[in-house]
Amino acid sequence: MKAQLILLGAPGSGKGTQAARLVSDLGYKHISTGDLLRNEIAKESELGKKVQGIMTRGELVDDTTVLELLNANCDLTSGSYIFDGFPRNLDQAKALDLEVIKDVAHKAIYFDIDLDILAERLVNRRTCGDCGEIYNLLFKAPKAKGVCDKCSGTNLNQRKDDNEESVKTRLGVFKSTIDPVLSYYEEKGALKRVKASATSAEVFEEVKNTVK
Ligand code: AMP
Repeated sequence: MKAQLILLGAPGSGKGTQAARLVSDLGYKHISTGDLLRNEIAKESELGKKVQGIMTRGELVDDTTVLELLNANCDLTSGSYIFDGFPRNLDQAKALDLEVIKDVAHKAIYFDIDLDILAERLVNRRTCGDCGEIYNLLFKAPKAKGVCDKCSGTNLNQRKDDNEESVKTRLGVFKSTIDPVLSYYEEKGALKRVKASATSAEVFEEVKNTVK
């Protein structure tokens, strides 16, 4: 079985785009805690109602809630996963090891990018509500305005938290929590840094080399 992959990086650093390629080209399963939480909001579940305001503001949901959701949605005996959006802090990194990954082989990949360019990227991000394809109006706009290149759906959405104020909060949260997480994986010898400002294809090559 391939090593479990933990994608670390700021919002907008390209984790979701690379995760989609790892799924289609290398057969990984993708688990994004942000997606799981957004599903709960869409279902209007109790959990969804609890986290909606927190997520719209760009703050972090509490560790216990997210860990429970993660645990309920992955089964490491069934294949290799890409963890996207988890861990967000050192406690989550430790909990991921103790409660989910345990002694299974894993690697963390850090999408290293200048945080100053991300705010503009994030407010221009759009996602196809039908197939999940990710666009950016700045550098990867759909060929026809408002129409998904991949599935021809016309449901290109902007995430509620991709507005200027929430983006500022999300980047601030990221800056204040990432360093201990990187040190944690570095000390275990499990961290690989990739230059996330390169083209998507170049980043994918680097990511693929890590997986081998
Ligand atoms: P993402 O889709 O990864 O950008 O996450 C969107 C939002 O979901 C974040 O801003 C948080 O509010 C929440 N979230 C996602 N993953 C986590 C996590 N591991 N811990 C806490 N909150 C999370």
